[in-house]
Amino acid sequence: MTGKIHSFESFGTVDGPGIRFVVFLQGCPLRCQYCHNPDTWKSGGEEYSAEEVAARALKYKNYFGENGGVTATGGEPLLQIDFVTELFTILKRKGIHTCIDTSGITFDKTSGECVQKHERLLEVTDLVMLDIKHIDEEACIRLTGKSNKKTLDFARFLSEKGKKTWIRQVLVPGITDSEEDLKRTREFLDTLKTVEKVEVLPYHTMGVVKYEKLGIEYPLKDVKAPTKESVALAKEILCR
Ligand code: SF4
Repeated sequence: MTGKIHSFESFGTVDGPGIRFVVFLQGCPLRCQYCHNPDTWKSGGEEYSAEEVAARALKYKNYFGENGGVTATGGEPLLQIDFVTELFTILKRKGIHTCIDTSGITFDKTSGECVQKHERLLEVTDLVMLDIKHIDEEACIRLTGKSNKKTLDFARFLSEKGKKTWIRQVLVPGITDSEEDLKRTREFLDTLKTVEKVEVLPYHTMGVVKYEKLGIEYPLKDVKAPTKESVALAKEILCR
């Protein structure tokens, strides 16, 4: 099977534990206003077989150490769930730690086939990093173009399946940083059994130049990075 790949990063340090080989998959159904990878949105990308990607990653095996491994991110990697499952199956056979960075948007709990596919993926995935874009459904639609229902269903599914999970929350001033929403998020996380860590990612404007290149108007051009105090408050609420 082949996957559509945007790019690779050989020594990633921010996409999961340790040093990681990071696979950026092409395509994303969301349109997060703060997205710094708008070049991954559309389908396209270069085609690679799962064996080819695994062989590339395995060249760096000696650098992974005890904690490192391979992360599939994007875009939304689970748009190509069969490919990622095949890739991770090969990597697990070689004893490599596997991690997925997802919004959970592909999870449809009403479809048996879809649930089975996600189950199979979890069998070969060591860690899931789940981006909760916004705890409030209406605000999530405004921020990303989609409801948060599938994301929250996927979080519950991970908990039921006993899958180790890191939650990621991008902190955007005036959009995701209200104390009330952060507390609601924490209350939701308290219902889950497998959350090992919560990461607060302060919004930054590093992706703006990509928007210019793509000729897309940047939706948050008047928004500044959050203050140290608001990051500290968010961490106090979410990471306890
Ligand atoms: S899910 Fe990720 S890649 Fe997709 S729009 Fe949001 S930030 Fe960008």
